[in-house]
Amino acid sequence: MNKFVLVMGLLLLGCRVFAFDVVYPAKNDAIINSKSTFFIGSSNKPLKINGKNIPLHQTGAFAYVVDLNIGENTFILQSEDERQVFVITRPKVNPEPLKSSPFTQYNKQKLLVVTTEDAPLRSSPVDSGINRIAHLQRDVELISDGEQGGFYRIVLGDKNFGWMSKSNVKTAENNSPTLAQLFGYEFLDSKEFYTFVFHLDKKVPFEMVEGENFQIKLYNIKEQPAGTYVMNVPINDVLSTRKLLGYSGKYSGNDFILKIRKPLSTHSWRPLHNIRIAVDAGHGGYENGATGCLGDKEKDINLKIAQYLQAELKKRGAKVIMTRNGDNYVSLKDRVEIANYGDAVVFLSIHGNALPDGSNPNEHRGTSIYYYHNQAKPLADIIMDTIVSEIGVPNDKVRQGSLAVVRNTNALSLLVEVSYLINPEDNANLVNPEFQKQYAKAIADSLEKYFSN
Ligand SMILES: [Zn+2]
Repeated sequence: MNKFVLVMGLLLLGCRVFAFDVVYPAKNDAIINSKSTFFIGSSNKPLKINGKNIPLHQTGAFAYVVDLNIGENTFILQSEDERQVFVITRPKVNPEPLKSSPFTQYNKQKLLVVTTEDAPLRSSPVDSGINRIAHLQRDVELISDGEQGGFYRIVLGDKNFGWMSKSNVKTAENNSPTLAQLFGYEFLDSKEFYTFVFHLDKKVPFEMVEGENFQIKLYNIKEQPAGTYVMNVPINDVLSTRKLLGYSGKYSGNDFILKIRKPLSTHSWRPLHNIRIAVDAGHGGYENGATGCLGDKEKDINLKIAQYLQAELKKRGAKVIMTRNGDNYVSLKDRVEIANYGDAVVFLSIHGNALPDGSNPNEHRGTSIYYYHNQAKPLADIIMDTIVSEIGVPNDKVRQGSLAVVRNTNALSLLVEVSYLINPEDNANLVNPEFQKQYAKAIADSLEKYFSN
């Protein structure tokens, strides 16, 4: 673009007062590969699209679904005194059938060594979702008996297999795999944690299972049935309350250290007193998150609700750890580290929701809550019930999902999608300080309920 056009463009933008504003599609010449999309925005006057009236919310917000044909689709948005033209191209796609690569069995097992931190050991050779068995540290030794696509098949004792992306390991060509020696374990009972230290002669793959019992499995161990050491963790008070409050398992040298948080002694009159709660306002800095119909940015709404929540929790005596308290960028890794370093018992990530092309924003409302570890589901259910009963926000379900901040924090960790920024009704709530406060209070009330019994 030459300088003159740029300057003229900026001048035009500067002088113009919009009667209506489209926040999505973000460009007048968007390419969208979907059967339908939507116009999201706001208008202070009646607005038509290709001659049809767009229903406006009382705030002026709108979400309007349009079908897309292959090729160029022209949409003329027209109010009394303004007109904007959008040409949206839906590309012609020739869907290629997905070729699934075949499994190759090796004649001889290979020794692999993990080369990255937190390498996901998966239950299927698919690089996404909740198919994670464990996250392995650098230098864990793995035995592979075959490969498929970009994955090695990993031998876990005699009976089980996992899958590891080739990008997370190197092959140790000169050495052949051997089983590890487990020398025994120590048990430590400290103020807040039960700690088990397993002494090994090398780092092996492991699995922590939240079931009827809390179980630890260490794979590829000498002189153990099926090459697997299994221990049902003997901590009756944790199991009798049926409330796990966070745990972690990782290597320090060749010792595997399992830490399980002990039940908290809470006062019935002040159940959140001294409880460490991490509050994570999603996005921030250059990362805006979604944009609402009225143009508000998700990062700002998240922070406001997070700050109201901080105040509500402090009032109740909790110790609040904020992952950000201003408009700054914080990486997902840093958010996890802040919570883990602060030894948070609860981690709550606050977000606003949006939808992909092809869906109808007018048909989606309310709160959805994501957990990853089963231990956090009861808390998610209580928060959902409380939000629905106290402030009448629609229940958009508690779901299990593999989200980095929820997966990697050693706390009862949840991600709360408060409401949909691109639904006009929800968006009106999200930008309303009264709603933000009530929402924060409902979350604080539900945490109080959870810790009082
Ligand atoms: Zn978000």
